[in-house]
Amino acid sequence: MPEALKRLIHNISLLPGIGENRATKLAFFMLWANENYLKEFRDNIKNIKENTSSCTICGSITDAWRTECNICNKDMRDKTQICLVEEYLDLLTLEWSGGYQWVYHVLGGAISPMNGVFVWDLNFHSLFQRISDAESKIELIIATNPNLEGEATTSFVIEEIEKRKLKHKVKITRLSRGLSSWYIEYADTMSIVSALKERKEV
Ligand SMILES: [Zn+2]
Repeated sequence: MPEALKRLIHNISLLPGIGENRATKLAFFMLWANENYLKEFRDNIKNIKENTSSCTICGSITDAWRTECNICNKDMRDKTQICLVEEYLDLLTLEWSGGYQWVYHVLGGAISPMNGVFVWDLNFHSLFQRISDAESKIELIIATNPNLEGEATTSFVIEEIEKRKLKHKVKITRLSRGLSSWYIEYADTMSIVSALKERKEV
């Protein structure tokens, strides 16, 4: 097999959920694909980092030329309800599950010392700043994943709100138990909708 093909198969096989076999098939697909498609694909990969950036308010992903994402900059969104998620993919999953009017805060992961993710690696500072700066009492809807790391992250947020004496500024709610997966990203829409609807105050 040509070296170039081997290297491409290797690159593709590192994508999540793709093994060696599938990577080989995809590499052959690209080998025979039309040049326009390949050019567009190459350009999109090349520009993905420089054409995107973090929203300065919530930490989600937006176009590089914007400072705020298209949820934070919408007037009709209710800024007194902040839904806290681990990853941008969780935000998308929740958005796709219903027509919510709240805004989000994206941490960029969950606390997991075993995987080398510590408090200082995540987007906590701006979360507490948002709560502290809020003009009226806000609801913080904690929608971390219902697994060990998500629990650790939730406990940290609740303790830190107490410690920073922000308790009077925020009503903390959590998704009810009963999601169909340990990851919001993989849970089915029905269970997400009811976990949000039946959320409980902490
Ligand atoms: Zn935003």
